[in-house]
Amino acid sequence: MYEIKWYFPGSIDEALDLIKLEGVIPHAGGTGILKSRLLEKIKGLVDLGKLSINYFCEENGEIKIGAMQTYGDVIENLQRIDPDSILIKALSQAASTPLRNRITVGGSVSYFPVWSDIMGPLIALDASVTLLGENAGIYNIRYFANNRLLRRNSLVKEVKFKKDRWKSYYFRAVRTSFDYAAFTISILAKKDKNLVKDMRIVVTGCAGKFNRLEDLEEKLKGKETQDLNLDDIVKDINLEFIGKRHGSPEYLNHLFQVELARGLSQIFRD
Ligand SMILES: Cc1cc2nc3c(=O)[nH]c(=O)nc-3n(C[C@H](O)[C@H](O)[C@H](O)COP(=O)(O)OP(=O)(O)OC[C@H]3O[C@@H](n4cnc5c(N)ncnc54)[C@H](O)[C@@H]3O)c2cc1C
Repeated sequence: MYEIKWYFPGSIDEALDLIKLEGVIPHAGGTGILKSRLLEKIKGLVDLGKLSINYFCEENGEIKIGAMQTYGDVIENLQRIDPDSILIKALSQAASTPLRNRITVGGSVSYFPVWSDIMGPLIALDASVTLLGENAGIYNIRYFANNRLLRRNSLVKEVKFKKDRWKSYYFRAVRTSFDYAAFTISILAKKDKNLVKDMRIVVTGCAGKFNRLEDLEEKLKGKETQDLNLDDIVKDINLEFIGKRHGSPEYLNHLFQVELARGLSQIFRD
C-alpha cells in the first residue's frame, strides 16, 4: 500500500510550486477527491486551507467569492446582501448540511460534476473565474468549463459576477432530497410589469454538461407574459440526456420540458 503525502503551504506561490509536482493536486473540501477514480494516481495533496482565498466581498458592483468559501459560507454571506440570489436557492438544496460545510466553490468549479448545483447558477449569472499559476487570468465561466486544460498547474482564486436585480428560479431533478440531480434548470428574469426585459436560462446535466438556451431567451425577450403559450414554446426544445439511474433519455427530456414550462410560468407570475 502506498501513502499519499500531505502538504500545507502558507502562501499561494508555495502552493503553485507544489501542484507542479507529478501526481500532486490541490485539496479543498476533499469531497470530490474522495470519490475520484484517479485516487490511486494521486501522490500528494496540497491543502489550500491556509491560503488567503477564503473571502466574500462586494466591490464595484461585483460579488467576489474566494475559492475556499464553502456552500454554507456562500449561503450565509449572500443572505446578508442578496437574499433572493439564485445561488441561495440552489446551494441550500445541495447535498446535506455537513457536506455544505465542506464543499468549496473552487473545488466545485474545478471539478464540475454533472450533478453540480453551483455551475448552472454561475453560468446564468455570467460569472468569471480567476485563475492563478500557469494559466493565470480571468475567464468567463463557460469558457473555463469547456477548457479543462486551463486547470493544469493552476489554482482557482475566486469567482465573481455582477450584482444585479434578477428574479430567479431553480429546479433540480431528484428522486429524494438527498440525491444527485439528474439535471438542473436555472432561470433569471427581469420584467417591467408584464414585459420581459431580459432572460437567462441554463440547463446542466445534459450532454455537453450544460446548455444556455439562448434561442429561447431571445424568443421571450420583449414579449408580454400573458401572450405566451409556454407549453407550446417548450415542446420544441429538445435536449440530449444520458439516461442512467434517473430514467431514459426520452423520459428526462420530457421531464425537462415540463419543468422548464413550470419554471417560466412561476418566474413570470411572481
Ligand atoms: C455524498 C456527496 C453528495 C454530494 N452532493 C452534491 C450535490 O447535491 N450538489 C453539489 O453541487 N455537489 C454535491 N457534492 C459535491 C461534489 O460532488 C464535489 O465533491 C464538490 O463539488 C468538490 O468540491 P470540494 O471543495 O470538496 O473539492 P475537492 O474534492 O477538494 O477537489 C475537487 C477537484 O478540484 C481540485 N481543486 C480543489 N480546489 C481547487 C482550486 N481552488 N483550484 C484548482 N483546483 C482545485 C482538486 O484538485 C480536485 O481535482 C456531493 C459530494 C458528496 C461526497
